[in-house]
Amino acid sequence: MEKLSYAVIGLGRFGISIASKLFEAGQEVMGIDINEERIEDAKLVVTHAVVLDSTEEESLKSVGIRNFDYVIVAIGNDMQASILTVLLLKEMGVQKVIAKALNKRHGQVLTKVGADWVIHPERDMGERVAHQLLSPTC
Ligand code: ATP
Repeated sequence: MEKLSYAVIGLGRFGISIASKLFEAGQEVMGIDINEERIEDAKLVVTHAVVLDSTEEESLKSVGIRNFDYVIVAIGNDMQASILTVLLLKEMGVQKVIAKALNKRHGQVLTKVGADWVIHPERDMGERVAHQLLSPTC
């Protein structure tokens, strides 16, 4: 498998599960969070773990965020931080930005500011479960 680089911003349950799976698969993963405790917990399951506020452009620049193949914005509750982070990443020239949305409106705004792929975890998972229940092998 080709080795790619990923940065995951926001290491809650959603972010850490993406980050650790990618790391287990042999990919280069930088975990980013504003919360030091989250970074301490993440250290063993990512390649690098960095404490920073992703709404600060200079902080993002300092970790070379532009050079990652994919950046995943897994901040949910703080919509303002999530939207501003996506905007900064796209302005800085990050190729592929994936972002988690809390609801439909949040998702629409993320798309407007340039997110390449918006994930609605609960909705997408619900659809997946229904699909599986409807499959003949279930
Ligand atoms: P989950 O639902 O994935 O468990 P959560 O409930 O912990 O997440 P969220 O608000 O979705 O909470 O935040 C996810 C992570 O994003 C948290 O660990 C939080 O510290 C981090 N975070 C929030 N704002 C920023 C920011 N500006 N820069 C970096 N990380 C941030």
